[in-house]
Amino acid sequence: MSQPTPSNLDPTSVSSFRKHLTNSTRIIAILGAGLSAPSGLPTFRSTNALWHNHDVFLVASPAGWRRDPGLVWQFYSERRRDARRASPNPAHYALVELAKRKKGFVALSQNVDGLLQRAGLDGNSGQLKLLHGNLFDLSCAGGCGYVDRDNFVDPLCDVLAEGRTRANVLGAGVQGGRPPKVSALLFEGIAAKNRKILGEEKFADGAPTAGDAAPLRELGEDVVRVPDAVPELHSGIEKEELPWCPRCKEHLLRPRVVWFGESLPEDIMADVDALFEEDKIDLCLVIGTSSKVWPTAGFCDQARKRGAKVAWVNMGADDVKSPRQDDWVFLGDAAVILPQILVAEGVLQT
Ligand SMILES: [Zn+2]
Repeated sequence: MSQPTPSNLDPTSVSSFRKHLTNSTRIIAILGAGLSAPSGLPTFRSTNALWHNHDVFLVASPAGWRRDPGLVWQFYSERRRDARRASPNPAHYALVELAKRKKGFVALSQNVDGLLQRAGLDGNSGQLKLLHGNLFDLSCAGGCGYVDRDNFVDPLCDVLAEGRTRANVLGAGVQGGRPPKVSALLFEGIAAKNRKILGEEKFADGAPTAGDAAPLRELGEDVVRVPDAVPELHSGIEKEELPWCPRCKEHLLRPRVVWFGESLPEDIMADVDALFEEDKIDLCLVIGTSSKVWPTAGFCDQARKRGAKVAWVNMGADDVKSPRQDDWVFLGDAAVILPQILVAEGVLQT
């Protein structure tokens, strides 16, 4: 039985896509946060890039880790819990069905939530390449090579228990009990940027001012309230209380995810390079990720060079930058669209 086509999808376009899909052998899918948004997981930027008033771009970074690994672990403990509580949605299952029937299918995923694996795509099958790692893998922060895969333990240690996170993160050590709206980590980032722009000679090593934070005002007045002094905000967690590497016993364990400012894993990138050096690619699916940012744009171009036709599935037209005339563009909820275009009559049914 064929399912009705969502009214916002052009039936002619769906039909020509399905025809091409049927005849496709090598298929690359580039996956982003929009795939998991229907499962209730917020995209990284959708919360105004703030987590408990911390700038997530600094919490999820080597600088944040050096400054306060406890804070970083609190952030990732929450994300692990959110991901475990979410369920795979019909878009995940549609991709898994496609992968079963098309052995030449490979997903390049920027998602770290594990939902595609829980929907049934084997992470070791070669059909799934995790570009940004996995929330449930841990590795030695000192680089001894220890890796602990699929660790779903929660909490990982007492100080990362759910009830303790919110209580500890804000409020501690803040004068007057009013938490600042701009974090110390953010100020540190601003200062580093100013130092880079101005150079060491011109950079005055003082606290950044309200003017420095001015670009944040577009997020809303309420978000930016610069405290008089940079508060020493910290998680209050000692290193000794966090999970340690059981192999070298010299370093902490960290979430095995790619932070801002870090390179993508070398082994994964080698696999991805090899993908684009092999034979012809028939189809490139871009799902739930903006084509404006690397690596999506780069992968898409590489696939085109190998002859791929491109299909976009995204919430908004803004995320699809200058599609070519013969691209397919399907706008809307991936959880609605993917089952319709991938698991359609005559394409996937055996
Ligand atoms: Zn180690």
